[in-house]
Amino acid sequence: MKEYIISEKSEIAKLINLTNSEILSLDSNKYKWATTKHFISLMDKNDPRCPIRRQVIPSLEENKSGNKDYLLKKENRVDTSIPDCIARQYNDRVAFLVTNVCSSYCRYCFRKEAILDNELNLKLNLLDGISWIQNHSEIRDVLITGGDPLMLSNSTLKYIIVELEKIKHVEMIRIGTRIPVVLPERIDEEFLSIFPGRNRTPIWMNIQCNHPKEITESLKNIVYDLMRCGVNVGNQAVLLKGINDDVNTLRTLHQKLLSIRVRPYYLFQCEAAPGNEHFIVPMENGCDLIEKSLLRHTTGMARPHYVLATNKGKIPCIDLIGKNK
Ligand SMILES: *Cc1c(COP(=O)(O)O)cnc(C)c1O
Ligand code: SF4
Repeated sequence: MKEYIISEKSEIAKLINLTNSEILSLDSNKYKWATTKHFISLMDKNDPRCPIRRQVIPSLEENKSGNKDYLLKKENRVDTSIPDCIARQYNDRVAFLVTNVCSSYCRYCFRKEAILDNELNLKLNLLDGISWIQNHSEIRDVLITGGDPLMLSNSTLKYIIVELEKIKHVEMIRIGTRIPVVLPERIDEEFLSIFPGRNRTPIWMNIQCNHPKEITESLKNIVYDLMRCGVNVGNQAVLLKGINDDVNTLRTLHQKLLSIRVRPYYLFQCEAAPGNEHFIVPMENGCDLIEKSLLRHTTGMARPHYVLATNKGKIPCIDLIGKNK
């Protein structure tokens, strides 16, 4: 898949017109950087405020210092008896981190310290994760995440799914991935063949679309193909300042998701991970936006849960703000 990924400034400079500030950010940015040819093809070539561009091209504001050890606290990484690849906030379900690489790095990533930064060096060992889940009979729901799990080979992904399916207490498997949106070339027949179809354990895939521009004909076809293989598809968006924090964009995004058979699941409040400040929309504004764009304006099926992810799990923002909407 390397041929579809761009991680050099000289390469992206051939495809869009970078501003001086973008060039400076690409040179000085301390975090990993990469995106895909497909995602670049959705960008406005001349406008640095383009909502696709801002999600993946570093900005100078990212280098501001932020919340130290954000992820360690958020994922309760104090209990050393749990392998690094398991993040636990609930009794009955865990996030299983299977890789720390992505094809395209979102600048607002909540796991920035493990994914975009090399400082937090988590040891992600698949066998440790699988045997931990085997030994914890209270875990009925496993969320395969990363990084982006679809960066693994088909045979490794199949191995993980087969091993999880063998565990009787695991009742459902979820995969969180941005690849259908950013790297559609990855979803080919060989990939689709890893899904066992009418198997015991339902498989859900949650993709991440943040802006209507990301919803393309190729994504529509991928969603249909996944459903054909028995995979249910949902969306987890992030509320991002200057990207999707207006009534029209937010409504269009969620209506358009339904038009390609994707059920909106979450809209995340952008988390205060280091260097994320410039993407954060105040929660009061987020609640107002939901009211003005989705509540009563369109079907409840188009309305995601607007939540803040914390170390105690996801909390509905409406509860935190205290308005009864
Ligand atoms: C998000 C998350 C889950 C899944 O939460 P749901 O609300 O069931 O989607 C589980 N474990 C961790 C650590 C998570 O971050
Ligand atoms: S795809 Fe997910 S893990 Fe990867 S950079 Fe984006 S938000 Fe982070």
